[in-house]
Amino acid sequence: MVIVGAGMAGVQTAVALREQGWTGGVLLLGAEAHQPYDRPPLSKAVLLGKADGSAFDVDFAALGVELRLGVSVTGLDTGARRLETSSGPVPYDVLVIATGAEPITLPGAEGVPGVHLLRTLDDAERLRPVLAGQREVVVVGAGWIGAEFATAAREAGCAVTVVEAADRPLAGALPAEVAAPMAGWYADYGVELVTGARVAAVDEEGLLLGDGTRLRAEAVVVGIGARPATGWLAGSGVELAADGSIAADERLRASAPDVYAVGDCASFPSARYGERLLVHHWDNALQGPRTVAANVVGSRTAHFTGSVYDPVPYFWSEQFGRFVQYAGHHAAADELVWRGDPEGAAWSVCWLREGALVALLAVGRPRDLAQGRKLIEQGARLDRARAADPSVPLKSA
Ligand code: FAD
Repeated sequence: MVIVGAGMAGVQTAVALREQGWTGGVLLLGAEAHQPYDRPPLSKAVLLGKADGSAFDVDFAALGVELRLGVSVTGLDTGARRLETSSGPVPYDVLVIATGAEPITLPGAEGVPGVHLLRTLDDAERLRPVLAGQREVVVVGAGWIGAEFATAAREAGCAVTVVEAADRPLAGALPAEVAAPMAGWYADYGVELVTGARVAAVDEEGLLLGDGTRLRAEAVVVGIGARPATGWLAGSGVELAADGSIAADERLRASAPDVYAVGDCASFPSARYGERLLVHHWDNALQGPRTVAANVVGSRTAHFTGSVYDPVPYFWSEQFGRFVQYAGHHAAADELVWRGDPEGAAWSVCWLREGALVALLAVGRPRDLAQGRKLIEQGARLDRARAADPSVPLKSA
């Protein structure tokens, strides 16, 4: 068993394989030299210097997992069952691809001093002195990472401007009416949010916007999204979806024998939502590996029918002093039901499809999230009027 990528999904695959009784060898290959670590703290405690690192508490030796770090996998020959790596070829019987995602860079910004990304521990360590020095920072992108970085930078005492191409934060994730109150969070936290802004140029002194505005900054942080880290699969015959993700099937198998794909690098067909999903969130990198392990171990036993992966996606974000959680998956046509006042500290939004709850966003209402997640799993129908009343527990709506 060879696992490529020693992030959350790769590590959890190794753990799940042992938990589910895999007795063969397990080799975990990772490009980064650091002991495998968790990413969410990078935009929170690690950035602020409140935690030194976020290494996983996993004893690889005790698990019988061989860890090879600082090794980049560069190619895959599925016929010969062999990987090409920076330290030579590696054969496999079963392969799990868990190479995650890599941040999208801003054209023209690569190599410009003072321009940062935030994906790796090295990125976070480079950004720590920026925060500690209370520097003036411009963030490009008002998505999840941009908002979390802006929050940490303000908490450290930096002057922060966030530049966003769309007319609102989180434009790719949430409808305008849900994102509208979130724009106010930036101002309340002392962050200047500039929407509808196109970056024309980046240099050591900051940004030039399309309308000629110059934004001076000692550091520019680019948070404009991430794409699956699958470039190394070119020519391997492993099928990719249009978004570059590995097009896994409902059992998280890739299109080659005994090859699986999981985490940020893989999409899967969701019968629950009637579409292929690419989920770039932590919980998916925790749950998916359990399905992979079940299928790897089960496929070696008689009468195994396969374990299907069709989760209710979940994620959280900590931004501007708020705890934001989302469960499920919504489409533009789904009906929105508000629970509570979006100008207040705590509120939720439900998305209903033919009366059934399909997704929920909770701001400071973790109980709504916990109950909503179960209701989504059950495909429960809600009474609109009761769901809109925040004093009625969601499970009773
Ligand atoms: P990754 O964590 O990207 O791990 C993949 C690993 O594979 C990497 O270490 C990479 O170096 C390695 N690799 C890539 N290519 C190769 C190769 N060719 N050869 C060898 N190794 C390779 N999610 C939430 O739900 N809530 C949060 O609050 C949250 N906060 C986040 C904050 C930050 C700063 C970031 C970056 C992400 C955050 N996420 C959050 C998302 C979550 O961390 C990811 O969904 C999760 O890390 C995905 O795990 P993964 O193992 O699939 O990919």
